[in-house]
Amino acid sequence: MEQRRCPDCGVTMEPTPVRDGEGMKLTIRTGKRDGLLGKLGVSDSARLQAVCCPECRLVRLYAEDDD
Ligand SMILES: [Zn+2]
Repeated sequence: MEQRRCPDCGVTMEPTPVRDGEGMKLTIRTGKRDGLLGKLGVSDSARLQAVCCPECRLVRLYAEDDD
């Protein structure tokens, strides 16, 4: 995974595991239609990868192909 930079601070954001209350990885439903999320792949769900800024604590979530 390439490095992500905070849009406010410009520092490298740190990958941070995101889990729900039962320790399951968070996913989103993407469906199989065309469009932005459809380009993630043939899977109809995507894993959420979080990165956190060590300076301002901004957290960004990225949808990654889950296969
Ligand atoms: Zn920041």
